[in-house]
Amino acid sequence: MVNTQEINQLLDYLDVPMALPYDSEEASSTAPEADAQSESIISSLDTSMHSLAREMVASAAQEGIQLRITSGYRSPSSQDKIYQQGRTVEGPVVTNARPGYSKHNFGVAFDVAPIKDGKVYYPNDTALWKRIGQIGKSLGLKWGGDWSKPDLLHFEHPIFEMKDLLMGKAQTMYSRENLDFIAKNKYARMEILGLMKHF
Ligand SMILES: [Zn+2]
Repeated sequence: MVNTQEINQLLDYLDVPMALPYDSEEASSTAPEADAQSESIISSLDTSMHSLAREMVASAAQEGIQLRITSGYRSPSSQDKIYQQGRTVEGPVVTNARPGYSKHNFGVAFDVAPIKDGKVYYPNDTALWKRIGQIGKSLGLKWGGDWSKPDLLHFEHPIFEMKDLLMGKAQTMYSRENLDFIAKNKYARMEILGLMKHF
């Protein structure tokens, strides 16, 4: 059970003005643009991720692996939709992150897949995924393949920590929207309180 005092404390956290000024300048990148579908997803990411995502595609291409960025920013409501899949809605479980708790919701995570003949495919090829993971890690990205529940497709920004994002100590261009969503959603608030006990 969560008491009212805890909820008020949390709301105070969420009401605190963002501590850091957000720098919307995009780091300059020498990486060439990715294919059009990847580019449209990259443009939805927080600007801190644009160069990293393009470098990921370019570095893989240098190793002969054609990659597409298949998922980037997700609104909290679209995250809710995919979270329900395999839980309250039929289908396989595709995410363990509740709405508001995915770095996709903050625009600092993307998923990739190799392409063949212009089409995305998901090869059952551990060595290939490891190579893809290594490429991302060599650029400084965190790779979901290293998690205890591996998510081979997933890469995220090296710096942003979830607890800092949730408390507004670190922010992206989607922080306000996402924190507002969490603040209005009782279930999400209770989740945060649970998480905060471990911070
Ligand atoms: Zn992902």
